[in-house]
Amino acid sequence: MPIIEVRNLTKVYTIGEIKVHALRGVSLSVEAGEFLAVTGPSGSGKSTFMHIAGCLDRPSSGTYILDGKDVSKTSKDDLARVRNEKIGFVFQGFNLLSRTTALDNVELPLLYNSNGATKLRAKDRHDRAMKVLEAVNLGSRFHHMPNQLSGGQQQRVAIARALINEPSIILADEPTGNLDTRTSIEVMGIFQRLNRERGITVLLITHEMDIAEYGTRLIRFRDGRVVADQKVIHRRNADEELAALPPPEPDQIPPPEEQAKAEPAHH
Ligand code: ADP
Repeated sequence: MPIIEVRNLTKVYTIGEIKVHALRGVSLSVEAGEFLAVTGPSGSGKSTFMHIAGCLDRPSSGTYILDGKDVSKTSKDDLARVRNEKIGFVFQGFNLLSRTTALDNVELPLLYNSNGATKLRAKDRHDRAMKVLEAVNLGSRFHHMPNQLSGGQQQRVAIARALINEPSIILADEPTGNLDTRTSIEVMGIFQRLNRERGITVLLITHEMDIAEYGTRLIRFRDGRVVADQKVIHRRNADEELAALPPPEPDQIPPPEEQAKAEPAHH
């Protein structure tokens, strides 16, 4: 049974008198454990597809079966519940709260979700958050604020936050868009490991072909349709590539005191 199955999905946005056909009939089936890279030019419908796949939005028509359940016409509240249970999100801009530690950022979804985890005691929330921070090798930085972390570390905090509810699917929208080459490979290494070791299904949006090649399967959108769907033949392996790179530059993030002087925290 596929974990994601969409049939004839359409999405029409109406702006005043104008109708924008963002998706024009998308059919796709994704098995649990796949690592799907979604590519295509800007405006081709990738984000719209991702929003629907992530239960953030509903299609105008067509069906979406998520893990055996038809969620195409589910109420907003139920959709939110399904989303909290099954899906973790990672975005290009990290979306961390700036004056909040890594640990508290990661715990946040446990405070706001509707699947019962709200009842967790502070210590249990803390333990769960520490576990996922350790899973992205950031256990030692749990008390740091985002501006005391490099871009790659911030993205790892965001990945930890996406893992806190033990999702079966991770949706990542241009997660390496703000990162340098080495850091991008590190982040892709984490996605590959979560996919391989935990069997988490990964859907990755990217417009970069070299990033798409970390996936197992490549989908290309154009004008609201899937125009290509193929297995990745020469899949890249982030861990091997990292091992072959020269050692990283020493940590260039200044200690918090100096940084506070140099650059006031943004809001
Ligand atoms: P991509 O992610 O590939 O850049 P999108 O899914 O964001 O593509 O956009 C597909 C089309 O839908 C574009 O023409 C875009 O302008 C339009 N669109 C996306 N979101 C909205 C929205 N909320 N309201 C109106 N039009 C939208």
